Amino acid sequence: MTSFCPEIWPEDPTPESQLDCRKCGLYQQGSRMIWGEGNPNAPIMLILDNPGAREDRQGNPMVCGTRQTLQKASYEAGLDKSELYVTYILKRRPVRTYDKEQVRTICMRHLEEQLHGHRPGIIVCLGNVAVQSFFRNPELDVKGLRGSLYKVNGYQTTVAYHPLAVRRRPNLYPQFLEDLRFVAAMRNSPAD
Ligand code: SF4
Repeated sequence: MTSFCPEIWPEDPTPESQLDCRKCGLYQQGSRMIWGEGNPNAPIMLILDNPGAREDRQGNPMVCGTRQTLQKASYEAGLDKSELYVTYILKRRPVRTYDKEQVRTICMRHLEEQLHGHRPGIIVCLGNVAVQSFFRNPELDVKGLRGSLYKVNGYQTTVAYHPLAVRRRPNLYPQFLEDLRFVAAMRNSPAD
């Protein structure tokens, strides 16, 4: 049996025109922008709430726990990394409290631009923040939506738990795996 080994996926560079984005004020918290990672032309777009660090405090590349769990489950679900692109509702990682509603609404415009460029076949919202932001409905959650496809903003969309939640609560792992297997099945025969 081949063993799985997490790795740093290539970063999709932030477009020059957006590199110094200060639209919502989150730049003041000091974290750098991460536009996305993985294959920018992949048929499956995974949306997280915000990026984890790709470097440790010394600036060395690292694979955070969220990425490790996501990569492991994707691998076990039969998804090849070439099929996956990861991006975020917020392109910067918040390190202090912030106005969640306002910042998410403003930063979502970057995601909308990305979608026009990428046109993925399936979108997977990971965690309740991504679900509520992308579906534009604060009442929704992963638990109530998982296991089905929805047409959202014109895209075939499904949901799964946030990999960090799964890491913290390992009893969620089988459901997480099930959700990613559903994505694998749907990428072969996406519904209209
Ligand atoms: S979080 Fe988004 S909108 Fe706010 S400064 Fe960063 S990139 Fe710009």
